[in-house]
Formats: sequence, structure tokens, C-alpha cells
Amino acid sequence: MSRSALRVSLLLLAVLGRAGAGSEHVGQDPPHSSEQGPGHSHWSYEDVEHWGVVYPDCARTSQSPINIDVAKTIFSPHLRPIQLSGYSLPANQKLKLSNNGHTVVLELPESLAITGGYAQQYRAVQLHLHWGSLMGPGSEHTISGHRFAAEIHVVHYNTKYESFQKAMVQPDGLAVLGAFLEVGPRENPYYQEIFEHLNEIEAEGEEVMVSGFNIAGLLPANLKFYFHYNGSLTTPPCYQTVKWTVFNQTVLISREQMSTLARSLRNEDSEPLQNNYRPVQGLNGRWVLASFQTTLSVEKPIPPGRDGSATTEGHSSSSFHAGDVLAVLFGVLFAITALAFLLYIYKHRSQNARLDSPTKSKVIYTAASTENTV
Ligand SMILES: [Zn+2]
Repeated sequence: MSRSALRVSLLLLAVLGRAGAGSEHVGQDPPHSSEQGPGHSHWSYEDVEHWGVVYPDCARTSQSPINIDVAKTIFSPHLRPIQLSGYSLPANQKLKLSNNGHTVVLELPESLAITGGYAQQYRAVQLHLHWGSLMGPGSEHTISGHRFAAEIHVVHYNTKYESFQKAMVQPDGLAVLGAFLEVGPRENPYYQEIFEHLNEIEAEGEEVMVSGFNIAGLLPANLKFYFHYNGSLTTPPCYQTVKWTVFNQTVLISREQMSTLARSLRNEDSEPLQNNYRPVQGLNGRWVLASFQTTLSVEKPIPPGRDGSATTEGHSSSSFHAGDVLAVLFGVLFAITALAFLLYIYKHRSQNARLDSPTKSKVIYTAASTENTV
């Protein structure tokens, strides 16, 4: 009994400790940012390691992007499908498309909103892209070390704040939807609505008005499967105010479209605007939640020939779900069974003693009722 109780206590402590650390981090940090608006600043991806000198938040510990190690994500059944409203725009509604020297930005009307999947409501502000070059991929987030060809970010702010500018400095101010772009067999008509205008905004600061279309077409069809974590704007000022959603399903565009994206724009030095992604940042204890049960998150044998510490970590983390929870469950069941058994013994001993000592009858009654409920 005492040994099982000790085991259960230790397991409970371990699990509660980890769960506490997780929720604390998830609640605390969130974010993202080429979403600055017109105010232009003179940072570049070439001095990405020094952003923190001028923008101190860039040197903090809950930054984005990150590598999402799928085996270490935590399945959360509470993460509901992302729901969008107002994303389908009529062609007569014109949107500003611009080259800000860091990326291509499509400004979005406030009628676009996230209405499900987050605890609060968020309004859209703009979307933009990150990409590589003709030589290599350029997504910002990576999945278990894999970098995708490109990545779209749709930036929103919490409706409880008056404006994007006010929301971007609040811990729960921003929500960014991120999705990966890959090369597929066909031209993507939604992305073509943007790409066909890139030759009109080749130089930094140029802008053009484009016709409205179904903005949701730029995102994956499946908005149920995603990863969620708290991070930052991925460009200066790197505010740690973004609740990130990174979709599991990718979006396909044609090879020609990918090439158009990588070749069309120029930066402030009139050089090709390429590789506009920030290196992945440390997790520093943050947890990445998954809205779905990944096959990698179940306990499995440690693959041979991998880095020792990494596999050990991965193993303990992946066993959290199946392993630790089941261990606690069985531990508790074992404790209850042991308790019932002891009560049963106690009852019989008390019954035997009743002949000698009538005052124990009350205890016998209690023990019997406990036994009945077990
Ligand atoms: Zn971005």
C-alpha cells in the first residue's frame, strides 16, 4: 500500500508539474510582424543575428518562427477547427498589394475574421509571404526539421483592442494563421490573383490595387488539423504577442508560380527579394499543441543510430500521453483496489471484534458502505 501510494504520488507530481509548466507557457507568450504597416525600418535578413540590438524583443525567449518537432507536440482535444468569416470578397472590392522591401503584402478589410478555433475573436489586417530562392526553400517554420518551399501568414488582431497598432503590444493581441506552400502539378488560381501583379510592384514601396477574391482559397482546405503555440512577430520589432496557428495541410502552387514569387521582387538595395525568412528560434520550455493525434506522438521504439540525448528527450515526451497518463490511471486504480481490500480486512476484523466491543459497530457500518461503492 505505501509503495503504491508513493508511486502514485510521484507520478502525479511529475504529471502535474509538466502540465503546469505547459499551460503557463502557453498562456504567457504568443506572436508575428511584417505587419508593421507603413512605418518602414531599416533591418534586413542579412543582419538577422543583430536584430536584438535595436529591437530588444527579438532577443527574448518566446520568439518565432520555431521548428515544430511533431513527436514532441501535445495533442489537445480542446483545439476546435479554425473558422473564418467574410473571407470571400467580391471582385469589385479593391485591395492594396505592395512591396515593402521585405515581402509582398496584401492589405485585408476588417470584415475578415477568425470566428472559431480561438478563445477570442480576431480581425484580419494583412497577409504576406516568406520564400526562398530558385536554389532552396524558404518557409519560416519547419516541421521536424523540414523546410517547405514558402509560407503564408495571415495576420489578425484581437477585436477587444481598438486597432492593430494597439493590439500588437498586448500579450493576447495577435493571431497569425500560417500555412506552407509546396510545388504541385497545377497552377493555383487563388495565388495567381496575387502573383499576376508582382511585376507591377517590383521595386520597394510600389503598390497596386487588385480585385477581391476568396482569400480563404490561399489557405489549406482542411482547417481542423493544426499546431498552436505562443510566439512572436518574425520580423522586428519581434513583439511576443502572437498566438500562432500553423496548419498541418499544405497548399500547392505550380513550379512556375513558385519561380515567379522567387524572382519578381527587389529589396531596398534593388537586389532580388529572396530568402526572407528568419532562422528558427529556441522553444525555451514552450509547448506546441496539436489539434489532432499525430501518429508520431504515440509511444514507439527508439530508432537506432540517433543522437542519444535527442532520442531520450523525444521518447520521454512522446510517452507523456500514452505512457504517463496510463501509468497514473493504473496507479490510482491500484490504490483504490488496495484501499478497498484493506477496508474489507478491517471490516472483518472489526466484525470479529464486535462481540467484545459494541462501540465499534459504527465503524463497521462505514466500512461496509465504502465496500459497496467500490
Ligand atoms: Zn510573416
